[in-house]
Formats: sequence, C-alpha cells, structure tokens
Amino acid sequence: MDQLLELKSLSKVYKSNSLASGEQKTVALDRLNLQIFSGEILAIIGESGSGKSTLAKLIAGLEKPSDGDMFFQSTQNVNGPKLNVQMVFQDPYACLNPVFPVSQPVVRALQLKQGLSKQQAQVRAVEIFESVGLTPAPAMLRRYPHELSGGQRQRVAIARAVATGPDLLIADEPTSMLDVSIRIDILNLLRDLRDKENIGIVLITHDVASAWYLADRIAVLYSGQMVEMGTADQIALDPKHPYTKILIAASQNRKLGLQGKAANTKPNLINVATGTGEGSLCKFLPRCSEAVGACSKMEPVLERQPDGRLLRCLLCEYAKTSGVMMH
Ligand code: ADP
Repeated sequence: MDQLLELKSLSKVYKSNSLASGEQKTVALDRLNLQIFSGEILAIIGESGSGKSTLAKLIAGLEKPSDGDMFFQSTQNVNGPKLNVQMVFQDPYACLNPVFPVSQPVVRALQLKQGLSKQQAQVRAVEIFESVGLTPAPAMLRRYPHELSGGQRQRVAIARAVATGPDLLIADEPTSMLDVSIRIDILNLLRDLRDKENIGIVLITHDVASAWYLADRIAVLYSGQMVEMGTADQIALDPKHPYTKILIAASQNRKLGLQGKAANTKPNLINVATGTGEGSLCKFLPRCSEAVGACSKMEPVLERQPDGRLLRCLLCEYAKTSGVMMH
C-alpha cells in the first residue's frame, strides 16, 4: 500500500484569553506520529476532548499545526503536490445549501475539480448518485435537502466528496446524528468506496463498535496523544493500554460508562507543556488503576510491541522486567 500521509511529531495548541484566567493554552494534540496508507480505513477513537476533530482539521488543512510536520505522499506539504483530502461531517444538513437541489454541489465539484463540462458533469452525477445508493438517481438529483432523510443527506455529502476524486476521506462522526438502524448502511457505503475506488478513509468516532466494524487499524487518542494503535481486532478484542481497556469495556456496557478512578478525573489540557521535559509523566496516570512505581517517575514513549501494535505504557516495560503478564 502506498503511503498517503505521514504526520511527524504534530502538535496543536489553542490559545485563548479571558479576564478571569488570563491567557490559556490548550494542548489539543501533543507530538502525534501517524502514517496513513491508500485504500486503508483507519479509525481514530477516544473520548470527547481527546483531540480527534483537531487531528481531522489539521489533515484536511482547515487548521494549521503549531509544531511538527505533515508529509503528503512522501513529499513535504509546503511545496509538494496537494493531496485531495475531503471531509464528511457529522451533520450533512449544515453542509448543504437549502436553496439548491442536491445535484448542485455534486455537479459543481465535478466541474471545478475534474474539469468536466456542465453536461458531462450531469451525466457523471447520475453515476455517482447510483454508486452511493441514491436511486432512482435522476429523480434524487432534483430533490432539495429538506426532501431527503438524514441518511440520504449523508449520502449526498459523500457523493459530493467522491465527485472531487479524493485520495483520502475524513469522516468525522459520520453516523452519530443518524438513526441506529441506518448507521450500518453508511458504514457499508464507506467500505464500498474504499473497495471500489481505493480511497483511504480516516473514521473519527467515539463509537468503538463502528470503528471495529469498519476499520483495518484503530488508533486510540488520549489527551492529544496516541496511547495505542493496532489492527481493529487487537484493539477491540485484546486492548493493552489501561485507557483502551476501559474504553472498550464502557462500549460493551454503555450503562456502566467509565467507573471508579477513571470516572473521577478528566485530563487537564490547559497550560501543560508539549515536548518531553522534566516532570512530564503519563497523561493517564491520574485516572489509571494499574499504575506502577515507574509511572510517577518517567514519561512513557510509544513503543512497538512483539505483536506489532504500538503502545504508550510503562506497564509493558514493567511486565518485561518482572515477568508479570499484561492482561
Ligand atoms: P474531540 O474531537 O476528541 O472531542 P477536539 O479536537 O474537538 O476533541 O478538542 C480537543 C481539545 O481542544 C478540547 O479541550 C477542546 O476544548 C480544545 N479545542 C478544540 N478546538 C478549539 C478551538 N478552536 N479553540 C480552543 N480550544 C479548542
């Protein structure tokens, strides 16, 4: 598989000012390293505030990183050829203009991005609508956004993205505003697109089940850092990081949610340093019930494990030296 995108030590710090607290810096992403390949589906999971949407916005070019590098198709972003990255958002209604029929954004994308004439674009729009399950396509193309269901509107948003000929699609919580009964259809549509068009897909979600269903690999973000990444089965069936474990357990029993120590403390992202420095420790330590002595002395680094996954946890070091098994 060709590498589409590589992120090297990418950080994003948001600065804000208020009378009460003065200048605040929120570390939304902290030295993130990540590679994305063509034709793969990578899910990014993590609780609210873990930095998922910030990552999506940086990749799509909607925000600029504070630090670090982004390489597109192995060529540095600044001068290299631009990768066509498209986003599909949570709320498709907000992305569609209510005064135009839904053919308009698709036809326009085909004209602008693919250089088709209006007539050619109208013919191609019918094919694209059929490929995303909006049938009968000629009738669907004439409809206005308010005449479609939520699921159909999300299909239009996906059709518009496809019309631009994307290399990479970032789907930011694409099913969270839809009925449970049709979520799977949208996930299947995304998989179809990957299979037929070889488009790389980054699925941003807090829903572990969707990530496991759709993705080849899953990356787990906590407090702006990747704490674990592996195949979908490794993460969903055999999580190793204490945070991944409670995330998976909570998804299996939604009523339980995060319990005990993990439920008490939210991560502090305000005015913390990025970069390895004296005194930086595991960000999950205040919520971790498995911490060992070393956790309050040094910062864990993301390390490749014998089974191929990446893990940021001193417990694996501890397990190696003490012979204790990590469960
Ligand atoms: P997620 O998508 O995982 O919920 P986000 O990337 O939206 O997380 O947010 C990560 C952190 O960055 C949060 O603490 C959020 O409040 C903060 N943040 C996101 N966008 C902004 C912004 N434009 N200005 C200030 N802080 C922001």
